[in-house]
Amino acid sequence: MLHIIDIQSAAFPVRPVVNKPDRKPTAIPVTKSVLPSFEEYTDEIRDIWESGWLTNNGTKHQQLEQELIEYLDVEHVSLFTNGHLALETAIEALGLTGEVITTPFTFASTSHALIRKGLTPIYGDIRSDDFTLDATKLEHLITPKTSAILPVHVYGNVCDVEAIEAIAKRHNLKVIYDAAHTFGVKVNGRGIGTFGDVSMFSFHATKVFHTIEGGALTYNDPALKHRFDQLKNFGITGPETVEVTGGNAKMNEFQAAMGLCNLRRIDETIARRKQVRELYDELLKNIPGIRILTPQEGVETNHSYYPIIFTAEENRRDELHDALAKEGIFTRKYFYPLVTDYAWNHNRFASRRTPVARTIAERVLTLPLYPDLTTEDVTRICATIQERVMK
Ligand SMILES: *Cc1c(COP(=O)(O)O)cnc(C)c1O
Repeated sequence: MLHIIDIQSAAFPVRPVVNKPDRKPTAIPVTKSVLPSFEEYTDEIRDIWESGWLTNNGTKHQQLEQELIEYLDVEHVSLFTNGHLALETAIEALGLTGEVITTPFTFASTSHALIRKGLTPIYGDIRSDDFTLDATKLEHLITPKTSAILPVHVYGNVCDVEAIEAIAKRHNLKVIYDAAHTFGVKVNGRGIGTFGDVSMFSFHATKVFHTIEGGALTYNDPALKHRFDQLKNFGITGPETVEVTGGNAKMNEFQAAMGLCNLRRIDETIARRKQVRELYDELLKNIPGIRILTPQEGVETNHSYYPIIFTAEENRRDELHDALAKEGIFTRKYFYPLVTDYAWNHNRFASRRTPVARTIAERVLTLPLYPDLTTEDVTRICATIQERVMK
């Protein structure tokens, strides 16, 4: 049980739940990292001892890039030490300036990447059915300073990629997708990482596919490869040449080796997640006051998260979150608070301007979801929810 991780707190710490005497043995964490067997991983890293090549585009790194091009069905992949630095690198490489339109309904990383690169995020509202940026409310946010759109595919749902592409073309804007939640997702048979100029994937331990920490950019323009390689390795291009003021965001061989192991079981991982999701759907669909997600047409999802929305006039989300925690069932208010309500924002961005995002953030709860979550556990979670909601 060493590999259980539990991310209940809003601060997003990932800590092992090991030998905690105060925790009931039946505790159900909100997520749990997939791991290969110890032997499979040690077999995979044996070559690293033999070659002595620990990082800087080693053989594991090269192999993982190739395998991901195939699996994600994309043109190009560049690996990074984590998703966030991949996103910052994409923003820098595309030369974005001024304002970038994005969503407040996301993880801190999306907006922080923009701000840390000297850009101003402009927040658009989201759609109430799939929680992605609402393309119909986007165009009036565009000003002469706008250089790009940074939408987020949320929970395994995909954005309205066609409408966003049309707007970007019309106004000559770049599009970077935060695809951290959509590893392996396809839209009408096409890899999600082929839309926009660049897509960022996160391979953090809590994601559907992980390399412990890690991330990638996918893109169609081959010229970007060189830019990304420079920016993630200090701008070094040869033994005596440094061309740009790059930083360090390289994925190492141990991370890549974990990725190679986890990629072997990715289809099984997603298939198990699907079973868990379908069981939740079945058990929750008739509970009044709870809305569940409807699958998007033409989208092959990866079942990243299982959100429920409380629709009754009296919002009992917080009460339910606490009641479930008392029973050892850990859920998350994900994403709450909205980025526009973070302390650093000092009310500079009014969340009342994105009323749908605000309502969803106040009423969403994501339930435990990982491949070996048992039928008994899902049944127990749903029974507890039903009992509490009906009260
Ligand atoms: C996980 C995540 C990130 C950041 O990825 P890291 O690999 O943890 O740096 C960015 N955006 C979203 C939506 C995420 O869920």
